[in-house]
Amino acid sequence: MNSLSDIHQRLRAAGAGPAHERRVLRLWSHGLPQDSGPRAIESFLPKSLRDALPAVTSELDGLATLVSQHPGEDGSVRLLVRLADGQTCESVLLPRGGLCVSTQVGCAVGCRFCMTGREGLLRQIGSAEIVAQAALARTLRPVRKVVFMGMGEPAHNLAHVMDAIDFLGTVGNIGHKSLVFSTVGDERVFERLPRGPVKPALALSLHTTREDLRAELLPRAPRISPADLVEAGDHYARSTGYPLQVQWTLLDGVNDTAEEIEGIVRLLHGRYAVLNMIPYNTVDGLPYRRPAWEKAADLARQLHRRGVLTKLRRSAGQDVEGGCGQLRARGKVAVPV
Ligand code: SF4
Repeated sequence: MNSLSDIHQRLRAAGAGPAHERRVLRLWSHGLPQDSGPRAIESFLPKSLRDALPAVTSELDGLATLVSQHPGEDGSVRLLVRLADGQTCESVLLPRGGLCVSTQVGCAVGCRFCMTGREGLLRQIGSAEIVAQAALARTLRPVRKVVFMGMGEPAHNLAHVMDAIDFLGTVGNIGHKSLVFSTVGDERVFERLPRGPVKPALALSLHTTREDLRAELLPRAPRISPADLVEAGDHYARSTGYPLQVQWTLLDGVNDTAEEIEGIVRLLHGRYAVLNMIPYNTVDGLPYRRPAWEKAADLARQLHRRGVLTKLRRSAGQDVEGGCGQLRARGKVAVPV
């Protein structure tokens, strides 16, 4: 039962009508017990569904369970989450009501600087398991924004991710521009996102304006030029009314050069976009280093002066464990629950 359609079928088989389904799923996705709410469950659900509900609820609760949590000084908390088959993935509670979820166990893109990319793709995370990460997070704190930036490339699990987005943007009560689809760039994304009933904001992991360097850093990302990616992202952003979020993991001496500054100005000036620069979290065993904060701040100032809206961010939870995939890779349990 790892997709939302499995859950719908299960509830219908137990006698649920559309209103019953909506109620059960709304409570679950908000992290609330099934006997909460103003209307007593006994007076609302048919008996066949009431009888089936304990087993269904226990399966829903088992879709994503908390293994450990790792609080950071910035208010974020990294969560190691166990899926029903025993695989694990990571979610991150972000400051101000955000949540970062995983869409795959492992990832096939193989970015050179990413721990998740090292193990390849192990399996897809189903739409219900994606929503279950939000349901689990909501048992810990309110969630008003969900970013699809954890383990995995959402474009490689597009149907499940879009089902989860449609669900979270309706039953899950998350504002559409507060759902952020993150991708390295893939034709299928630019075709599919504008067609959905819920249109998320788009984050594009660009990391460099040089095609040769991008092929080296993101070896299995689709070969689309940075200029074409920005063009497609800008087009989608204008159609939704929320700016394109261009993600740039700053790697010391690699993509923080004068040449890249020129490339960024060329690509992003005049675009409906914001550049998010995130200094890399150094990972043991990988050759990349985080640039000094002052150097990163200087780059951001230069870009601002040249008309590129730039935000320099500290990646959430960096004081906990570094980049995504490390909790899982190390099987580390800092705060058992
Ligand atoms: Fe996959 Fe994202 Fe890691 Fe790249 S950075 S390997 S796309 S999880």
